[in-house]
Amino acid sequence: MVTTQEKPPRDRGFNLSDCGSDGESYGFETLALHAGAYPDPTTGAILTPIYQTTTYRQEAVGQDKGFTYSRSGNPTVSALERRLAALEGAEFCTCYGTGLAATTALCLALLRAGDRVVCSQAVYGGTVRLFREVLAPFGVQAEFVDTSDEKTLTNALREPTRFLFIETPANPTLKLTDIRLAASLAKEAGALLVVDNTLLTPALQRPFPLGADIVLHSTTKFIEGHNATVGGALITRDGDVQEKLAFARNAIGAIQSPFPAWLTLQGVKTLPLRMARHSENALRIARFLMTHDRITKVIYPGLESFPQFELVQRQQGSGGALIAFEVKGGVEAGVRLMNSVRLCALAENLGAAETIITHPASMTHADVPRAQREAAGITDGLVRLSVGLENPLDLIGDLVQALSS
Ligand code: PLP
Repeated sequence: MVTTQEKPPRDRGFNLSDCGSDGESYGFETLALHAGAYPDPTTGAILTPIYQTTTYRQEAVGQDKGFTYSRSGNPTVSALERRLAALEGAEFCTCYGTGLAATTALCLALLRAGDRVVCSQAVYGGTVRLFREVLAPFGVQAEFVDTSDEKTLTNALREPTRFLFIETPANPTLKLTDIRLAASLAKEAGALLVVDNTLLTPALQRPFPLGADIVLHSTTKFIEGHNATVGGALITRDGDVQEKLAFARNAIGAIQSPFPAWLTLQGVKTLPLRMARHSENALRIARFLMTHDRITKVIYPGLESFPQFELVQRQQGSGGALIAFEVKGGVEAGVRLMNSVRLCALAENLGAAETIITHPASMTHADVPRAQREAAGITDGLVRLSVGLENPLDLIGDLVQALSS
């Protein structure tokens, strides 16, 4: 028996089943818990079930209930899509198997051979690899520039550009790009603005009111938040763009599976609480690092000494979870620190409840050409810390013991 309806009746109690416009009167915390979900019509189950099904029985030829095959759409994935759209304040969302699958679908949906893209110089390494090593041979040209600099960005947008892709703050240098400015320059140039909002999430940063056309997430990170899934999402207010994305996702087969979508639906419920605590903990740890005599450089947007602190205050709710720093003694000392932590995990992820320490030059950004890494400020000695939800004193204790090793 089919027990779902794509658009449930409005008189079933607390139904934030539709996207942004319906939810606008609710607070972000309420949307994180309820948007897009409704009690199962047959059992009343409060959680959206995991619709682990390939296909859907149709009543007659051409008569379906909104779902036909789980590569095109799945009710659990749709519930997550409605929630993420509501959280970003948009109408449409498509979810993918990974964040990079989302970026791939974005490019295949919007780009053709001969097209040009302008991209932030410091972005996730996999984004650079996709443009340089996968899309370039198909005739797509990506130019990596310092999008935090108005003049550089204006110059880069002089040539015809299909879209401007920014990541702010950038991974791992944490340099910010002014979204409102980027949106107005992109609009003047006739380009769409895509914002990778993975590092802050809508709990701390809302790109749509600032003029973004598309928001991208690796839901692998803070959105799901528990190191349990990989996933991606593309969110938009533009129906034509949505149609192209949904077509590309179905054509290339990049949709998320129901179980990771279900886990993400549970994880995202605590997003506002987690982001607040991540930021609080990170600020405490950044302040501690500033006082440690073996630390030569601390980059954290929540510190007043951060060069773009005014933009931080205007554009993002707080500093976020990520800190980048360098240790006295260069690469060797940084590697010794990373090999000596006990509570922090040396691993390739960020945005989880557990604190993760990473060496971008050899791990997440190893495929970025050295010249681009150096131009973007991703030095060999840079250490990235994704501050988790542990007691911050325990994290500081771990860093103290690792720094004295
Ligand atoms: N965007 C950012 C900012 C990331 O940090 C990552 C991964 O680290 C991605 C996109 C790609 O996401 P995924 O690893 O889920 O494919």
